[in-house]
Amino acid sequence: MSKIKQLLDGYRRFHENYFVGDQPLFGVLSQRQTPSTMVIACSDSRVDPAIVMDAKPGDLFVVRNVANLVPPYEKGGGYHGVSAALEFGVCGLNVENIIVMGHRQCGGIKALAEGVPEGIDGEFIKPWVSIAHRAHVRVVKEYPKALPEELACACELAGIVVSLENLATFPFIKNRLDKGELTLHGWYFDIESGAMSVFNAETRLFEKLA
Ligand SMILES: [Zn+2]
Repeated sequence: MSKIKQLLDGYRRFHENYFVGDQPLFGVLSQRQTPSTMVIACSDSRVDPAIVMDAKPGDLFVVRNVANLVPPYEKGGGYHGVSAALEFGVCGLNVENIIVMGHRQCGGIKALAEGVPEGIDGEFIKPWVSIAHRAHVRVVKEYPKALPEELACACELAGIVVSLENLATFPFIKNRLDKGELTLHGWYFDIESGAMSVFNAETRLFEKLA
């Protein structure tokens, strides 16, 4: 079966599950969306947040990009895709939570730590992943003798923390954090073991979910 045929069949199942049947979900969703949670996840095909979190259409407002990065707040020109989504999610949809979900074996973070893979110029990837440059610096300083694999894993975790820090540089986010109207979360999904770890802002450590 061709991949496209598989996807078309998948669409038919989706249509059956969400548009027809006992309680067609899109009857309600066609009027409005009211997700309470925004997710910033990696574009990696293995870490779809809706699947990992077993969420339904309408549950999550999602931005996906290389290495689940949030740039710092910047004024001025340019095409600020993540910032536009944050503005809409936070100010328009009034989400109560933002989850930055990173993952193990992230190609984007590997490009940051080891350079872009051969055959890719890196014209766009290099400047993009440099958002997490300070994560790499922190990790190299903290684990000077780490093996490449350990370093990559530590960078993936530190990259999530950098994105959480950058989220707080947006005035409309900072304002809601101060008022207690918004909570930030850092999650890390291990593709190999299936484990999810959650960032504890007090201990500054990631703790594995039981
Ligand atoms: Zn990734």
